[in-house]
Amino acid sequence: MQAQFDDSGADAGGHAPSAATHPPPSRRAGGSVWIVPFAALALFVAAIAALLWFVLKHEAEIELSNLRRDTQYAELAITRRILAHQDLVDRIAGAISSGQDALTLTDQAQIYLRQNPELRNVLWTSPAGTISWAAPSWKDASSIARERPPPAERERMLRLTSATGRSTYSDPYRDYQDEPYIEYHSPVVREGRFLGTISASLSLRAAMQRLVPLSVSEKYRLSLIDGSGRELFRPDDARETYEWLTQTVSLTLPWRGLDLTATSYKSDSLVGRAVLMAIIALVTIVLAWSLWSLRRRVEMQAGVDRALMASHERFVTVLDALDSGVAVSDFDTRELLFCNESFARIFPGHTLGSNTADLETAFTPIPSQAVPRAALLTADGRLGGVHKLEVRDESRDLWYALRVRAVRWVDGRAVRMTMISDITERKLADERSRVQQEKLLLTSRLMSVGEMASTLAHEINQPLSAIANYNMGAVRRLKSDHWQKEDLVAALEKSAAQAERAGRVVHRVREFLRRREPVREPGSINLIIAELAELVEIEADKAQVQLVLEPEAEVPPVFADRVMIEQVLVNLIKNGIDAMRAVPVDRRRLVVRTRQAQAEGVPPMVEIQVIDAGHGIAPEVERELFSPFFTTKDNGMGMGLNICRSIVEMHEGHLWFSRRPDGGSVFHFTLPLAESAAVLAA
Ligand code: ADP
Repeated sequence: MQAQFDDSGADAGGHAPSAATHPPPSRRAGGSVWIVPFAALALFVAAIAALLWFVLKHEAEIELSNLRRDTQYAELAITRRILAHQDLVDRIAGAISSGQDALTLTDQAQIYLRQNPELRNVLWTSPAGTISWAAPSWKDASSIARERPPPAERERMLRLTSATGRSTYSDPYRDYQDEPYIEYHSPVVREGRFLGTISASLSLRAAMQRLVPLSVSEKYRLSLIDGSGRELFRPDDARETYEWLTQTVSLTLPWRGLDLTATSYKSDSLVGRAVLMAIIALVTIVLAWSLWSLRRRVEMQAGVDRALMASHERFVTVLDALDSGVAVSDFDTRELLFCNESFARIFPGHTLGSNTADLETAFTPIPSQAVPRAALLTADGRLGGVHKLEVRDESRDLWYALRVRAVRWVDGRAVRMTMISDITERKLADERSRVQQEKLLLTSRLMSVGEMASTLAHEINQPLSAIANYNMGAVRRLKSDHWQKEDLVAALEKSAAQAERAGRVVHRVREFLRRREPVREPGSINLIIAELAELVEIEADKAQVQLVLEPEAEVPPVFADRVMIEQVLVNLIKNGIDAMRAVPVDRRRLVVRTRQAQAEGVPPMVEIQVIDAGHGIAPEVERELFSPFFTTKDNGMGMGLNICRSIVEMHEGHLWFSRRPDGGSVFHFTLPLAESAAVLAA
């Protein structure tokens, strides 16, 4: 039978390590494994950061060196032009100092001014501060005055130039429009006499806009700072800059009061790098986050694994602790998929995965034939109910109870699960109890007959006396020689009839007492009662009880053991007779009635009633009525009703009693119809 099941590696001791049949989830590695990926990520981030830092540093260095070069270049361009302007003013001062008429210089000065618009004017100021000559000629005195330094500065310049005899620059100043200017003064000295200065007003804004090469002004914000740190000029279209990329150089003029500051504009490449850095940072964050969530998921999974393993261990422990063997096998291949320790103990020598079909043949009936696949699974593959059967292992002389059902296996397929319990002990006990029961029934029958012995002896004695009388009469007639053949025949016939009567009683008693196996077969209950009446009538007569049979004519055959049912009837009739011993003779009436009973929800039965008019059953007696050894009689055993109930229930019937309203009791019992039993058997 072991086909359905097997033990998982049941070895020497038949001990099957269930873990082998159902491998538990493996334990996970410790949390330290996470150090490696996190360290790798940290290293990666550090490497990227270092790389970026180096790239940025390198680029900043290049940027700074470009800035220095471009600033120098711009400074050179500016100072070269200013020196050229200075040179013009010096030349005009020299020409006038050497006696040349100033008016002859007008055209030359005007052409120069037109070509260099940052130079706003060229003037000859007398020591008294009046303007002796001015270019361009189209500017009137007031518009020229608006471009010049404040009067005090003008005076200071005249004094300074006169005193030193050297050309000089004014402090930077602002015109009426708040535009920054400086003015250059060159002394006019003729024959030792100071004749004033030739000056030129230079618009610093115009100078910066015109003189700085476009390639520089596009890349940097260029400012002019005076000696006290004030910003004189800043381009109108200045954009956002990197303040940290700034370079300052002094304009190399005879007067060193002006600084040129260049600050790099923010460039797209730097924005690109910033975007790149942001992307790298983002990627790093995403990586760290996904690593972190991976770790959480792995830890969660590990938690689930642990819970699973604990549940698996609980499952295996409980299964292994069962006295019954549990096995799961494939329907088709008969491969053993699982079994517990008890199974392995019962069937040592089988391992997981082995084909166990050969085990089945040890059993009667063969389980897979007694409970085929079709009995466990519906046609559309749904799982059916549990099937129970008892099988015998003839080779080992053991009995097993099997519970077989289909279950859904872990991979979804339907498999056969079998629970097997050794019931040999129970079977032996059942057998012992059956033998005991039989002995008990026989004893009970013997007792019944024993109780009726004197009545029976009397009953047999009567025909025997009659036979003796008939025989004596016949002998007398034969001896007298006056005998008629008819008389002798009549006497002998009567004698034979009496012998037959005695023989029937003896036959009944023998039948009743015969030790035999119970045999249930279809039979007429009315006939059984009629035949039994011959036996019990004698007892009833003796007790002056009228025995009345009221069989229902149409009652169908019952499925019963005749002798057992007779035993029930004898007990019930005797109890009825006993109960009526104290009632007046004219009321001593015992009725045995049969009828077909049909109750809702149960198969039709035949009901037998034994009705007496006795003393009835008191409530305190009622509780104990069917208990063994309960009796109210001096010579009673108290086993009668208990045995009756066992016999009736053995026949799937029911035994009970009811009270009659006018005194007395009715004992009822039911028996199944032969036709219902035939249906059940089919
Ligand atoms: P026993 O007849 O040996 O006493 P039973 O089991 O047959 O044992 O009956 C148990 C008791 O039930 C009887 O002693 C009696 O008191 C009561 N009893 C049984 N049948 C009847 C009946 N028909 N009427 C009244 N009492 C009864």
